Amino acid sequence: MWHQFKELADVDITQESMEVGPTCHYVMGGIEVDADTQAAIGARGLFAAGEVGGGLHGSNRLGGNSLSDLLVFGRRAGLYAAEFVDTVQAPTVSDADLQEAIDWALAPFTNEDGESPYAIQADLQDMMNSLVGIIRTKSEIVEALAKIEEFKVRMANMKVMGGRGYNPGWHLALDLPKQLLVSQCVALSALTREESRGGHTREDFPGMDVEWRKFNLILRAEGQNVEIFKQLLPMMTPELAALFDDGELSKYMTEEELNSLVQRTS
Ligand SMILES: Cc1cc2nc3c(=O)[nH]c(=O)nc-3n(C[C@H](O)[C@H](O)[C@H](O)COP(=O)(O)OP(=O)(O)OC[C@H]3O[C@@H](n4cnc5c(N)ncnc54)[C@H](O)[C@@H]3O)c2cc1C
Repeated sequence: MWHQFKELADVDITQESMEVGPTCHYVMGGIEVDADTQAAIGARGLFAAGEVGGGLHGSNRLGGNSLSDLLVFGRRAGLYAAEFVDTVQAPTVSDADLQEAIDWALAPFTNEDGESPYAIQADLQDMMNSLVGIIRTKSEIVEALAKIEEFKVRMANMKVMGGRGYNPGWHLALDLPKQLLVSQCVALSALTREESRGGHTREDFPGMDVEWRKFNLILRAEGQNVEIFKQLLPMMTPELAALFDDGELSKYMTEEELNSLVQRTS
């Protein structure tokens, strides 16, 4: 810790105060993938592993797990992506679609009187930090979702300076709509999940609810809108359940589920 502060901020923490603040450590959500192949569900040809692949850690990642996750599931994603590539023809893209993508990508160079993507990103970060931060509550998340609609309008008219070579401002302009989409997904699922679990804390729903453990929230972008639905999780297998003490399982499962496990093991 001393070394990091000295190297990165030139602060000797044995002599001076250091600034400490919360930051985002890990995202426990991401692209829905097939558990064996890491193939994205609903986006053929996309393979995701690591922090961008959702589901592995549930609501709370254990410390140190991320790097082993990258090695194991990164390998699987690579293997199955290579296998997939061998089974498909090179995709064809129509000239019209290509032109549409080019026009969209180059628009920030020609937009008149638009805002800088850096200013918009800073405001988006501030907004998400204060309204969908560590402790969440309904009124604030609803406010965040309304502000996200305002961001869509601002982003439609972003302006970047300079040319196309090595231009981080332009790259940010291309990334920002995706950052906004992810923000919308985070806010919408935080609003829908009316309980507190793992890294998700709702001030207005402080307890963990066993009914909610049965579901993942899946979000799908349809044009400018995002649809959300609850997806039932498969029941834990009896051999896995046998590894837990009964008292531990009853913290997480309904009476009905515990009874069905007993029936399946007996
Ligand atoms: C402060 C901190 C401490 C941590 N400590 C630990 C620890 O002790 N142990 C542990 O196991 N885990 C730890 N983690 C978590 C772990 O570091 C991350 O989960 C892990 O590095 C994520 O790896 P990744 O490859 O999934 O994603 P990343 O490492 O985020 O890689 C994604 C890459 O994609 C690139 N990229 C993004 N957008 C684009 C684009 N449009 N085009 C091309 N490239 C793009 C990015 O530049 C980046 O290189 C820590 C995380 C933080 C923040």
